[in-house]
Amino acid sequence: MRRKIAILGATGSIGRSTLDLVERSPERFEVVAVTAATNAEALADIARRTGARLAVIADEARRGTLEARLAGTDCRVAAGEEGLVEAAAGEADLVIAAIVGCAGLVGVMAAVEAGKTVALANKEALVTAGQLMTGAAARHGATLLPIDSEHNAIFQCLAGSRREDVARIVLTASGGPFRTASADTLRGATPAAAVAHPNWSMGAKISVDSATLMNKGLELIEAHYLFGLPSERIDIVIHPQSVIHSLVEFIDGSMLAQLGSPDMRIPIAYALAWPERLETPARRLDLTAIARLDFEAPDLERFPALRLARDALESGGPAPIVLNAANEVAVERFLAGQLGFTDIAPTVADALACAAFDPPSSIGDVLEIDRTVRARVETQMKASCH
Ligand code: NAD
Ligand code: MG
Repeated sequence: MRRKIAILGATGSIGRSTLDLVERSPERFEVVAVTAATNAEALADIARRTGARLAVIADEARRGTLEARLAGTDCRVAAGEEGLVEAAAGEADLVIAAIVGCAGLVGVMAAVEAGKTVALANKEALVTAGQLMTGAAARHGATLLPIDSEHNAIFQCLAGSRREDVARIVLTASGGPFRTASADTLRGATPAAAVAHPNWSMGAKISVDSATLMNKGLELIEAHYLFGLPSERIDIVIHPQSVIHSLVEFIDGSMLAQLGSPDMRIPIAYALAWPERLETPARRLDLTAIARLDFEAPDLERFPALRLARDALESGGPAPIVLNAANEVAVERFLAGQLGFTDIAPTVADALACAAFDPPSSIGDVLEIDRTVRARVETQMKASCH
């Protein structure tokens, strides 16, 4: 029996890496649904190549182009949020959640509520919905498999062990392109420099998050919800080589780590084939060529985003939603050349300081807080430009 796969965000970096693996093993996988934001041409190519039966474009204005490009195939076309929900909750056994940002939340929740196995790259969805998502997964019998390399590493290290035997987990971070940059250099950092990651090739948003270390902050919150550990039992260490993807320390003092070349196809393959494994073309590690592994503590002065994320996790309730929404807007503005690199964290800090929301009790509440914070941050940015 082939595993039926839906790829939410098929045109992105994670989406393309997933397709690369799936297309190498047509005897194991069948792509049934694919989605994208606006690139109808690329989505149509993917749907034709894979023989998907449903293609969904988020931008309704691009629906006509997608239909024209898929004319003569038996691939159905849908658009907007309704289409996304259909792709997530439809015939797939395994849903790859690879949309970037809180925009992916509705699709992830639809898959969870349909009891699917969800391979989660879209960390912002879990950061914002946290307990609501893990609670729904438990109620509906859905399985969350982490694709994020650190969480996938921890998931692999935890296999076969009892949760009460875990002392703490250690998330590794490359430190990003500005790991050794001075405070002055950071102030002048351009979008081009920020997205040039030393070890990983990724979408623009996560690349900027890696440069500010907000990515590690989001991953801290993600780890809390995935593995049920409190903030004080999740540590972060800078490891510039990106060879060890994360570690688990047990109560007896043993530490287990997962190692591999920095290629997202390794964690994606683990999620695709779980509980089996899948061959990948990823480069094998040459330990003697690597020769050494370095570790250092993160610098919270130059990278305050990490502290903001830990504070948001510890405050709980709506704070992670506010953190994420303000960060998404700030990163968008930074990429557009309208906000300085070192203004990203203060923008998020201001949003957190001004926020007074009740804890969300539904996904509707989460989306409402997200919308309110985005509108506020946009207004404040406009005001400060004049
Ligand atoms: P990307 O920008 O390359 O791709 C994003 C995908 O989402 C595209 O297919 C795009 O069409 C779709 N999308 C964007 N906005 C949308 C919207 N409003 N509605 C519907 N679809 C939309 O991003 P990426 O680097 O592939 O990252 C995807 C997710 O995976 C992010 O949450 C990121 O943090 C996480 N992640 C990525 C990597 C990586 O190596 N790229 C590693 C770990 C985690
Ligand atoms: Mg990661």
